[in-house]
Amino acid sequence: MKILALSGIIPEHICDVDRFFAYAGDKKINHYCGYVADYICQVEQDDRYDGAVYPKSCDSCRVISSYLRSDDKFSYQFPSISGNDENAWDFLACVLKDYKSALENFYEIEISVADVENRIEIINKRAKELEKIYENLENISYFEYMTMIHQVLSLPLEEQVGAISSFEINDISQKDNSVFIVGSTLSQLNILQQIEDLGLNIVGDSLPESGRLISKEPVTLSDDVYKSIAKSMLSGKKSPSENDFHQMLELDMEEITSKKVVGVIFLTQKYCEPYNFYKSVYKKKLDELCIKYIEIEQKDTVEDIRADVVLETFAEMIVRN
Ligand code: SF4
Repeated sequence: MKILALSGIIPEHICDVDRFFAYAGDKKINHYCGYVADYICQVEQDDRYDGAVYPKSCDSCRVISSYLRSDDKFSYQFPSISGNDENAWDFLACVLKDYKSALENFYEIEISVADVENRIEIINKRAKELEKIYENLENISYFEYMTMIHQVLSLPLEEQVGAISSFEINDISQKDNSVFIVGSTLSQLNILQQIEDLGLNIVGDSLPESGRLISKEPVTLSDDVYKSIAKSMLSGKKSPSENDFHQMLELDMEEITSKKVVGVIFLTQKYCEPYNFYKSVYKKKLDELCIKYIEIEQKDTVEDIRADVVLETFAEMIVRN
């Protein structure tokens, strides 16, 4: 069983999933979001994967199920759930139970409550380990931190905590010019190297594989384990596609002001409508706080972004002040 998951909205508490980061195969459906187009292509073409799980959180995601309709591979689409109250938890708990049953039927396996509780314990521990590193981001290389996360998340869950705690990340000498990264999953790590080489120090982010992952409340075990998972999933920083931009904006601004951030780098995908809406309110807030802002738009997950010039100009503006 090897399942490719799109987006951080997909839970890992029921079974292992690999997170989709990038794919360089054919791009058959690449007019709107290149991220979704590359995801569909990888599920179809990469024989290592026998399943796909993805949300229905935006127009691009909405169509995935019809492109992946086949009897050969497992395919499950999560509905988009907004809110963080009793109704939302109950609804999401039902979805999680349905997801578990779909997995059991397709793979002819049994997933017990004990299996799920064991995974919950590991996921809670993983978040604690990552949080320890995240709290020290201003003193370490963010490029190395994010490279480590991408490597760790591709391991089976039971190996992840050990891998994080044994990872050594170099200290950096650059401690000024603090910047913050906003965006969907980061497919191109080279851009982080460029940012650090320009003398900027990345001190925080709201990416699904880092800041958002850590911001979720730990799952507390209860009689209804699926409801407990649902509560955790709907806590913390959300994606702008989860229909609650106020919550994410507020949490980001708290972090940005407490870390004395002077610039924000917004990494978006081409034609991404949830991030486009979000970007306008985000920029307005940053303007009020006199924090500099730059947007870098990606065409797909493997494009070699030619952001050198814009990033250099942005870095010069920050370093000059
Ligand atoms: S990057 Fe934007 S358009 Fe693409 S899947 Fe995510 S929310 Fe949807």
